[in-house]
Amino acid sequence: MSGFNDSDFVRLLEIIDRTEKERQSETFCSESTLKDGCGGYDRVVSGLIFAGTEPDLISGNIYIEGGIIKEIEEIRGSLPKSENWIAPRFINAHTHVGDTLLKDPPLGPDMTPYAYKRDLDALVRPPDGLKHRFLSELSPEKAVSSMESAIWDMYQNGVSVFADFREGGVKGVEALIEASKNAGRNIHPVIFGRPAFSNVSSSHLFLDELRDLLDIADGIGVSGANDLDDYTLAKIASKTQSKRRKLVLHAGEKDRSDIESALSLDPDLLIHMTHAEDSDLKAAADAEIPIAVCVRSNLATGVGLPPVLNMLDAGISVCIGTDNVMINAPDMFEELHFLSKIYGISDAVLFKMAISNGAEALGCRFTGSIEVGKKADMMILNAKSLNLKHVKNPLAGFIRRARADDILGLI
Ligand SMILES: [Zn+2]
Repeated sequence: MSGFNDSDFVRLLEIIDRTEKERQSETFCSESTLKDGCGGYDRVVSGLIFAGTEPDLISGNIYIEGGIIKEIEEIRGSLPKSENWIAPRFINAHTHVGDTLLKDPPLGPDMTPYAYKRDLDALVRPPDGLKHRFLSELSPEKAVSSMESAIWDMYQNGVSVFADFREGGVKGVEALIEASKNAGRNIHPVIFGRPAFSNVSSSHLFLDELRDLLDIADGIGVSGANDLDDYTLAKIASKTQSKRRKLVLHAGEKDRSDIESALSLDPDLLIHMTHAEDSDLKAAADAEIPIAVCVRSNLATGVGLPPVLNMLDAGISVCIGTDNVMINAPDMFEELHFLSKIYGISDAVLFKMAISNGAEALGCRFTGSIEVGKKADMMILNAKSLNLKHVKNPLAGFIRRARADDILGLI
């Protein structure tokens, strides 16, 4: 037994009750404050502000009007009304929410009685990987409702924008648009679709679908340069770029064989680059192509660890994704914990990777930092939670320790 007795339980209830009161009275304006205490603004939020992209930690108030940050007021010499932390919400730069209903599948065949052999292709490679066989049989209703649950989950985990590789052609993109609308306006999808007819590259079906996709999606997400013939890849690249949409590819996930082809298409963003060599990283840096790394996914599928420190050395803007929901909970806090512990990357650099670098890579100029003029996409963290109390360095605590259950509120 753990020794958890009745008095512990009462104490726990008191803590939960106190936290709830803080949520109502400290963090946000109450109704009465709204009338006379916000200086004409819709809302004022007080606490320790993670301001800008570096970030600067400032004690003070954020004044919000119409969902936009209008003023950041530093309070010197006295404590702000709240000691809670106010951080910008995350940009999850790579997801596949379409496989939410296939959570935690077998990652490969049994190798011994106690371990399995990971097999990335058997799991996700189109058209016959487990995921694609599953998606082809998924009803539209279940697809929408399952994606909606993943989007809500990300929202509650502090995500502001997620960039999704959406399978299934136009219908797949439409389903994600519907799921995002159902999930509400406070989390924004950036959708990279892919033609469902990519295996019949010379047909009108493919070109018609590509045109329709580019009308409704933010760009095209290619599963890998080796999965398509040169004609198809070139058509996708030229049509996407002439329409001023974004071209994004998985590259170098399992091995290096598709990296040069991917780089030759002048993409807007590359995903993984797990097996990139220094020459590949130099080419990406010279072309100013950002890279989204998905470290937990790479570990789960057994493909190795991406050379994140070499990417940073090369001057590449690195952002972070959680990849397939079927492999990982779409939890950016966990992604930060792994990156911090595996690579020893500094807290300030990880802060940028998880937020402003992702916003920049996806072209989301309205968000990605707490700054005047930007959208108030913020999370309020309870600095007195059991997890965060006693933290001496709030930025380190946010990057290395914070969890979704430390979030008191989302704006
Ligand atoms: Zn992916």
